[in-house]
Amino acid sequence: MADPAETVDLNRYDPAHRAWVTESVRRVRAEANRSADTHLIAVPLPPEWGIDLYLKDESTHPTGSLKHRLARSLFLHALCNGWIREDAPVIEASSGSTAVSEAYFAKLIGVPFIAVMAAGTSRHKIGLIEREGGRCHLIDDPSQVYSVAQQLAEETGGHYMDQFTFAERATDWRGNNNIAESIFAQLSLERYPEPEWIVATAGTGGTSATIARYLAYTGRHTGVCVADPENSAFFPAWRDGDGEVRTAVGSRIEGIGRQRVEPSFLGTAIDRMMVVPDAAAVATIRHLETVTGRRVGGSTGTGLWAAYRIIAEMLAAGRTGSVVGLLCDPGDRYLDKYYSDEWVAETGLDLAPYTESLTDFFTSGTLA
Ligand SMILES: *Cc1c(COP(=O)(O)O)cnc(C)c1O
Repeated sequence: MADPAETVDLNRYDPAHRAWVTESVRRVRAEANRSADTHLIAVPLPPEWGIDLYLKDESTHPTGSLKHRLARSLFLHALCNGWIREDAPVIEASSGSTAVSEAYFAKLIGVPFIAVMAAGTSRHKIGLIEREGGRCHLIDDPSQVYSVAQQLAEETGGHYMDQFTFAERATDWRGNNNIAESIFAQLSLERYPEPEWIVATAGTGGTSATIARYLAYTGRHTGVCVADPENSAFFPAWRDGDGEVRTAVGSRIEGIGRQRVEPSFLGTAIDRMMVVPDAAAVATIRHLETVTGRRVGGSTGTGLWAAYRIIAEMLAAGRTGSVVGLLCDPGDRYLDKYYSDEWVAETGLDLAPYTESLTDFFTSGTLA
């Protein structure tokens, strides 16, 4: 029998493991340290409007999207929590940009990476993940990706990263050069350094949560607007305060719009939401190419259409100022999608009325 007064002392300090974590954290922080900040590019508007529009260009990260920031944060958070072990795989349920970025960071710290995804995922995406050293675990039923990822983690002694749960808490929202702090630093010499609105979109919800918290914490007079695509649960859930909303079909805009409200979506911190038709998003990115010569992904179009509506509203009210949107990923990933006339026709999107509205907006300042 143990003496109840005896001191119980269980020491699990493992110097070898600590040394591995220290080295892994160093590698991830060194990657951040040698990375340049992403540009805040100006989108030209008629000068007489007195309104400045910027896009935070997240396509220039080493893995090509804003998921590079997320993956870096998720790895640091998981490493410091003791969740990632040497030689044990990191597993994620993602067929998109997150898996590409996480595969890159897994390779950086020398652990295997497995992406669990639906068998229908395009060869192109599988190729991107494999090029970063990741392995793709394909399953037939897309609704099972989360449970299969969890199960695979248990079987292998690995770690299920779970971006949809941890995105909002893995990022330092008070600063540390997060996306919001970087935007404000880059605006500091502009004529309107405090924007009226920052327009984001939501996949995990992590980016909009970080921006919203930063705005409140630093006392800005800036609102955060989330632009949502068709078929997404975020807007109806936010409007009705109902976290149980489910939608019947998935979003056509890659990276954003979810069929359920993800745990990382922080609706209470969001000031405004706008539902943007998918055809408007596609018309917007095609129009942007004619104005700036740049091709961007569909989610950038969803947010940019919302930013244009806000600018039209400012013009109607006679206000000057600035608005910031996000360039989430590059358009060359979607040449056979948003930039393909066949895809647009097959999908049944009618771009013409929105293309006309955009042309009209850039001359009249009103957006129908
Ligand atoms: C993930 C993603 C978003 C949304 O970012 P979250 O921080 O996950 O809400 C927007 N666009 C693209 C292309 C994405 O991959």
